[in-house]
Amino acid sequence: MSTQELNNRALNSQVQGKWETRWHPLLEQWVIISANTSVRPWSGKISKAPGSAESAHDANCYLCPRVTRASGSVNPDYTSPHAIDNDFPSLALTAPEPEVASNELFKRSAAQGRCRVLCWSERHNVTLAELSETEMRGVVDLWCDEHRMLAADSVIKQVLIFENKGAEVGASNMHPHGQVYAYPFVTDIASRMRASQTSYAKRNKGADLLSDLLNDPQGSALLVERSEHCSVIVPFAARFSYETWVVPHRQAPYITDFSSAELNDLSRMYQRQAQRYDALFQRKSPNITLLHNAPCDENTDNKHWHFHIVMQPPLRDLEKVKFLAGAEAGSNNIVNPLQPEDAARQLRECEIA
Ligand SMILES: [Zn+2]
Repeated sequence: MSTQELNNRALNSQVQGKWETRWHPLLEQWVIISANTSVRPWSGKISKAPGSAESAHDANCYLCPRVTRASGSVNPDYTSPHAIDNDFPSLALTAPEPEVASNELFKRSAAQGRCRVLCWSERHNVTLAELSETEMRGVVDLWCDEHRMLAADSVIKQVLIFENKGAEVGASNMHPHGQVYAYPFVTDIASRMRASQTSYAKRNKGADLLSDLLNDPQGSALLVERSEHCSVIVPFAARFSYETWVVPHRQAPYITDFSSAELNDLSRMYQRQAQRYDALFQRKSPNITLLHNAPCDENTDNKHWHFHIVMQPPLRDLEKVKFLAGAEAGSNNIVNPLQPEDAARQLRECEIA
């Protein structure tokens, strides 16, 4: 049976699954697992694979080597992963100090921080999943360098490294790249995750939430792949149909805490999961990747944080895009139309190199 037939079989074998609410222990919120809604008639947006491949260099792309950007800067002739400042930043160290608020209802502060763009490759027409193992490891080194550099600035309280990949998640430039937002505050998601991991450790004699999650036999059906230093799992309370987490086995708050051997493993496992999505969706799959490092403020609770990578493809099956609509926008409680154990099985069955 061909790889495509195998992957088709995986996608078509969705069965009527569980209908229940599941507790998301990191975000401390309920997720509705409603596997019965995936068989509802669909008249929403259909997402098709993009057309023919573009060339390796695009003179109109502001991320390609040697191109002059909107700021007037000329990109160097780079040949490995490369970082630049975002020419249209939401946060900047030069942002002005606003007027002092007269009361708490009009509280404000300067939008100080940094926004960076990380090019995974000098080649315009590849994705991270298609890089060589060495090139991918270079991307991981860039993640570490950026985090180290930005977290050292006392203005910065959290560094979020992420990738918006594909038109479905609003990526405006197809050059393989990610971004960094270095915030002057701790974001809402990080506040919740820090509180939940700290509270779990205090309730359980210092135990680590994500390590316990990985090691609990009840989660065995959620495992996609396990290697020496990290595992890829579908979370028990997945908020997106094919959401996965790449979790190092050793608890540490920051990507910069890991050894070279651990980072080699993380790099390989992350890239293999990106390849698995391409195999499952039979295209250069759209995806949001989030590197969840602990905040870099002075809070001593950061020590309980377990660094991990979250991948959230927006597709609920081969062609359908999942939108967050009224109930979800109004509640922040997501409905997932696919049983997480079923998603993990489909991902395990994907054939990759
Ligand atoms: Zn480009």
